[in-house]
This record gives sequence, C-alpha cells and structure tokens, in this order.
Amino acid sequence: MTFFDQGGETAPVERLRARQWERLTAGLREVWATNPFWQARLRAAGLRDPGDVASWDDFARLPRLAKADLVADQAAHPPFGTNLTYPSDRYVRVFQTSGTTGSPIRWLETEESWAWWARCWAFVFRGAGLGPGDRIFFPFSFSLFVGFWAGFEGARALGALAIPGGGQDSATRLHVLRELGATALVCTPSYALHLAEVAPSQGLDLAKLGVRTTVHAGEPGAGIPAVRQRIEALWGARAFDHAGMTEVGAYGFECTAQAGLHVNELEFVAEVLDPETGRPVAFGEVGELTLTNLGRWGAPVVRYRSGDRVRLGARACACARTFVRLDGGILGRVDDMLIVRGVNVFPSALEGIIRRFEGVDEFQIEVFRRGELGEVRLLLEVDGATHGAEAPGRTAEGVREAVRHELGIRVEAVAVPARSLPRYELKARRVVRREAGAFGALDPRHPGGTP
Ligand SMILES: [Zn+2]
Repeated sequence: MTFFDQGGETAPVERLRARQWERLTAGLREVWATNPFWQARLRAAGLRDPGDVASWDDFARLPRLAKADLVADQAAHPPFGTNLTYPSDRYVRVFQTSGTTGSPIRWLETEESWAWWARCWAFVFRGAGLGPGDRIFFPFSFSLFVGFWAGFEGARALGALAIPGGGQDSATRLHVLRELGATALVCTPSYALHLAEVAPSQGLDLAKLGVRTTVHAGEPGAGIPAVRQRIEALWGARAFDHAGMTEVGAYGFECTAQAGLHVNELEFVAEVLDPETGRPVAFGEVGELTLTNLGRWGAPVVRYRSGDRVRLGARACACARTFVRLDGGILGRVDDMLIVRGVNVFPSALEGIIRRFEGVDEFQIEVFRRGELGEVRLLLEVDGATHGAEAPGRTAEGVREAVRHELGIRVEAVAVPARSLPRYELKARRVVRREAGAFGALDPRHPGGTP
C-alpha cells in the first residue's frame, strides 16, 4: 500500500469492479424505492425491479442520461426537479450549473453527498502530491456555482489549510496568497495566466511566492501541453489537471506521473462510448465519457453523457493506481467541434498552437460563414510595448503558418491591442460565433460580442 492509497486506489481491477457493482446495485435499490425521476426512467427502460440489473451487460443497456433530460425535468418541476431520493429536509447544500450554455440546472446535496464531494476532491489533491501541511488558495467567487466550493471542502478532508479568495480582486488575491504563504493554487488555467499578468503591476514575481503546485479545472487547458508549460514557467510550479462537473462531481485527476487523467473508479463508473451509437470505443480511440455516481444517491446520475471527448487509455501507471486513464485529459466537448473550410477542428487544438507563442497574452476564436464555408479568425492579443513593435504582426503570421502546417487549415490571424479581450475567473468562453454581416463591420480594437 502506497502513501496515498487510503481507499483502494491501487486495488486490482477485479476488486475495483466488484466494489463498484456492490455500491451500484445498492444505490439503484435505494433510488428505485423513492426517487421519482429514476423510478420513471428505469420503468420506461423496461425494468420491473432493481434486480433486473443483474450484470454489467444489463447496466450497459440502461438508457444514457442527457443534460436536456435534467433541464426538462427541472422546467416541469421547479425549482429542483424530481431527481431527489430523500425528503427535502435531508438536503443541506444547493448549487447550480454556471449556465454558460442554456438554462442552469440546480442540484441539492445531502450531508453524505457533500462529504462525498470533499472525499472526491481529496483524491484530486493527493493525486497532485498535496497533503496535510499544504496551504491551498482558492481565488474563487463563492457563489451558487459549485466549482471550487467542493475543492475548499476537499482541502479540509485532506487535512490541508484552505484559504478563501472570494470577494477580492486579482491584485488583492496575489497579496493574500503571498502573505498567508500559500503552497498551492486552485483555479481555471485561464485565471492562473491572468494572475500572472497582474503580478508585475504589484511588484510580485510569482515564481518566488512559494506556490509549488497548481490544480486546474473548468477548461481543458491544463491538459494542453503548451498551456501547462506556460503556467508552470510563470508560477515556478507543477500544474495538474482535474475534471468535474456539477451534474456528476469531481471525477478525474492527474497523478504525479502526469500521464493523462485518472478517473476515480472508486466513486464513479466510467464508460467511453461512441456518441452516436452508444457502443464502447476500443482502447486508444476517442469517445464521449459517460459517468455513473456511486456515492451520491440523494440526487445521482446514472450513465450521464458528460459531453467530454476523451481518449481511452491504459490502466497501468507509474503511480501504481489502477484507475483507468484518459490520454491527453479532456480533449474538448463533443459539441464544440468547428468545421473550417470543411475540415473538423477542435478549439483545444487551436489553443495548443496559440499558447506556444509567448507574445500572446489572450486570444479569441471567431467563427463565421463566408458563402458556404465556415471560416475562423483568430484574434491574438499581443503587447507591442512589451515584446517590441514588430511582435504583433510577426506573431499573427507565425500562428497562421503553424495552424496551416499542423492542422491543415487556413485561418485569419489578427493581432489586437493589449488588454482588449475579456478575462475570465471561471470557464473562459473564447469561441465567438458571428453572423457574416457582423463580421464585415468588425473593428479589431473593439471585438465586441463577448460576454
Ligand atoms: Zn497515475
């Protein structure tokens, strides 16, 4: 047993599967008894009683749950919907999704499921090598969005010191971080880069602040090598990727071997499925990650379509964990693929190229149609005052050529002035869809149309 293995992270796969089965079947019995949402879904799927799920093959025949199903249920039964296993007085926390796309979904947590969130985050922190004695800073607006609330509780579960960074601007956060001796930072990749932009104005050198670990969620960024390298260089720290969502929980994390995302199979059943057919993809192939809760029976998801595109990797890992790995982390969203001049391209692939160019502080991907063709224009924020008067033009040219060479597509690339694009504390929205007419009138100094 290794130092981090407090809950069977290195158990043989057969034992993991047996343990999952035990918890899954017990949970299904529980929701079958009292949860109206799951009663209706399971009956509609032809189940007479929970005993009808008698094997993993039976499980794989259960319908997949989509976000739209949850939205429809909450619209029909406001404010919380019917996915509730217990009477309302058993629930102690309420959250809602960030609502960046469509209607937000609300979620209630019981005392048990809130402790479960914290436990899941403790896996994330242990994966990154953190433990008691660490001081973990959360530059996060503690709102209705669950985001790093759960990480904050996870730090307590880990035995580390949790430092709240709510109600502070970026400059104040940097000073708090320094004064309280934070050793770890938890935020989106974009926000870690944004803090690095703010640091010089505060006379701070991030690499000297004592933060040796950063943990990132909310965007694929930390799994993109060029983004990770930039964060690590600016902070003088090792950057770790983490994945989670309100509907599912904190399911994925990186270990110190940093060989893709491990899925916490003690708390989730993970399937990588072809989004169209729902059939499992082969080892090494890309599909949609589909997840089932094993420890959140107050409001669970079973076979939830995460929308995350992942590549199914091997289990064997230098860290000795036996959890399945997703090579390259979250590759993007199933529904965020762009078609540029007939070629499929994911925004994360563009970001992987753009972030290699040091002069680019921020960027935006504009998508528009010209005639029948989908086109992309990259707005690249390059500070000529810092990098030299020729830097903006040279960088745009370099990015354009790299995209053509590596992705085989032609895009426009335009340098825009320093500080002209939006910054984000939470999930960044860098893809902007424009109407053809609006594009013609676009003034690069005022990109507009941004949230
Ligand atoms: Zn590992």
